[in-house]
Amino acid sequence: MSAPVRVRFAPSPTGQPHIGNVRTALFNWLFARGRQGKFIVRIEDTDQTRLVPDAVEGILDGLRWLDIDWDEGPEVGGPYGPYFQSERLDLYQEAARGLMEGGHAYNCYCSPERLQEMRKQQMKEQKTPGYDRCCLNIPAQKLREYKDEGRVPVVRFKMPDPEEITVQDIIRGEVSWRSELLDDFVILKSDGFPTYHLANVLDDHDMEISHVLRAEEWLPSTPRHLMLYRALGLEPPLFGHLPMILGPDRSKLSKRHGATSILEYKEMGYLPKALTNFMALLGWSLDDRTEIMDRRTLVENFSLDRVVKSGAIFNREKLDWMNGVYFRNMSPEELTERILAYWEEFPASQILRPLDRGYLMRIAPLIQERLKTLRDASGLTSFFFQSELVYEPQELVQKGMDLKTTSAALEQALSTIDSSVTFDAETLEERLRALGSELDLSGRQFFGLLRVATTGSKVSPPLFQTMEVLGRDRCSHRISKAIEALAAS
Ligand code: GLU
Repeated sequence: MSAPVRVRFAPSPTGQPHIGNVRTALFNWLFARGRQGKFIVRIEDTDQTRLVPDAVEGILDGLRWLDIDWDEGPEVGGPYGPYFQSERLDLYQEAARGLMEGGHAYNCYCSPERLQEMRKQQMKEQKTPGYDRCCLNIPAQKLREYKDEGRVPVVRFKMPDPEEITVQDIIRGEVSWRSELLDDFVILKSDGFPTYHLANVLDDHDMEISHVLRAEEWLPSTPRHLMLYRALGLEPPLFGHLPMILGPDRSKLSKRHGATSILEYKEMGYLPKALTNFMALLGWSLDDRTEIMDRRTLVENFSLDRVVKSGAIFNREKLDWMNGVYFRNMSPEELTERILAYWEEFPASQILRPLDRGYLMRIAPLIQERLKTLRDASGLTSFFFQSELVYEPQELVQKGMDLKTTSAALEQALSTIDSSVTFDAETLEERLRALGSELDLSGRQFFGLLRVATTGSKVSPPLFQTMEVLGRDRCSHRISKAIEALAAS
């Protein structure tokens, strides 16, 4: 029987979680959930110079928002903790000592200045850049001097004699490197913190990670990791490197292509389910055709053999389209709750308070077709809430009409509206159509005019449904005000 699936998402808290990180988290999560596995979050906070305050919170918030839950990690704990690398320093230091004792690592006292000088020289001589092993065998005298000077060493891994290092990557197949192109890299820094390589390898082993699924950018680190596993006498996990995410110009997705932080997408009004669906397709597909898939379908079908090697293009228009599909599939109740929750969280986008939930529930179906993001909702619904509209008389006057005919048509519409026994879209359409022909106005003229008068805009949801939802009082009031605006011009 093969080992249980245990996968991890191991972010470094150096900034807000971006699409790339979260796609990695999602793929790991889908892989675990479809195989009764465990999904672990581990915070790789070993580079103390690059820590960003609140980054951990941002990362966890992003995961929670997308409903990516973790079985072990920050907040929930677990049997393999702690899950913050900064709380596991003893383990790394002990392993570094063990590697030194076994002849796989050594102390290096080289100053940053010396290393810089060495690099410059290597460049000049067009040599492969890398550590020159100056400290591999330090004479006793020199060592005493260093110690007397109070120099604190780093620990470097001693690369073995030249050989080929090969990994069978689950996604990319066989990948090989020549070991002599890799230098003796640092595993423990002078501040006592490990580097990414050492901490990552030890933790993946200690936490019994079965599959390391991570972004392609970490592929070049893999030979170092394999060397470390061997020197530590540990069995490496399986590796799968996920394809790069590219912008539409096929360069690596970055700020240049617009928002990258997952929390910005939340603020822009994308739905977590739509975004998850969209991200699942960044490098994976069900069958090259199916686009819209719910959580369950994703969990049940996600597999690494359908993850591609080539870069996945991040297409914002597709995301907008997908978000729209999720809106259209909602009930008016759900859509209303979504909009209200969004306005609650991002109050700047809300037009007027207090909001009438029942009223919004009737408005929701009218904007549902056109809604792309929750942020759009305030613009699309604002005229429903404004107490007074502002009219530009030239907007009211339609082609082939003048102030007088416009005003007269509105007066007639007003009395039709006021005298209508029922105020539903069907009756309104019937009566107003009849009135339009009576006035010898085309539909475009008369309804265009009514649209501007009742909504303040030339574009709106279907006119008669809109009028029905606005209600008789608002419609009458607005039309009277439009007549006044014409008179005053
Ligand atoms: N801490 C690394 C990162 O920020 C993790 C890479 C890995 O998964 O091995 O992405």
